[in-house]
Amino acid sequence: MCLVYGEVEGQSDVPVRVHDACFTSEVLGSLKCDCKQQLELAMDYIKENGRGGIVCYLQQEGRGIGLANKIAAYAVQETGVDTVDANRQLGLPDDTREYSAVENMLRELNVQSIQLMTNNPRKIRELECAGVKITGRIPCIVKANLFNEGYLAAKERRMSHVLDNSWCYWDAAGTVYNSIDEAMEGDYGDGTYDECDVVITKNRRFD
Ligand SMILES: [Zn+2]
Repeated sequence: MCLVYGEVEGQSDVPVRVHDACFTSEVLGSLKCDCKQQLELAMDYIKENGRGGIVCYLQQEGRGIGLANKIAAYAVQETGVDTVDANRQLGLPDDTREYSAVENMLRELNVQSIQLMTNNPRKIRELECAGVKITGRIPCIVKANLFNEGYLAAKERRMSHVLDNSWCYWDAAGTVYNSIDEAMEGDYGDGTYDECDVVITKNRRFD
C-alpha cells in the first residue's frame, strides 16, 4: 500500500518512508520496538515539510519473518539475548525484507528520485539494487523507552543502523544529560528514583 501526500508526480527528491508493517506496535501498542513512532514521525514530517511525500507500507512483519515467528523470537529475547541472536537461535534470518514493490510504486507515480526516511543502510542498499534513485537520507530517529532501548541498541550495534550516537538521558523537566551519573548528580542526587515510573529514561532525540 502506498500513501501519497501532495503533488509528487514527476518530482525529484521526494521524501519517502518505506515502512514495514508492525502489528505488535501499530495495532497492539507494544513498546518493544520503535516502528509505530517512526511511522508517525514520517507522516508528521511529510505533512509539515510542504513538498509532499510518500509512505510505502509493506507487509513484512518482523523484518520479514512474520508475526508468529516474531512472537516466538520475543519469547527467546526474554532469556536475555538480543533480536538478532533470538532469530538465529530459532533458525530464522536476521532480515529478509525486500523492496521491489517500492520500485513499482514509484515508477507508477512517475517519481524521479527520493530522499529516503530511514536509519537503515541495508534498506538504502536494497532499494538502490531494486532500481530506486536515492538522492538523500532523512534520519528517522525516535525517542526510546525503557522497553525498546535494548532493541534500538541492537539495531545500532548488530545491524549498523545510523542512530548518530544520539543516546542521552532526559529528566521529566526535559533537561538532557550525557550519562546516568551526571543525571543522578543533578536534581535527583539522592539516588532515589523509580526507573519504570518517571524520571530518567534513556532516550533518543528527534532529529
Ligand atoms: Zn515494530
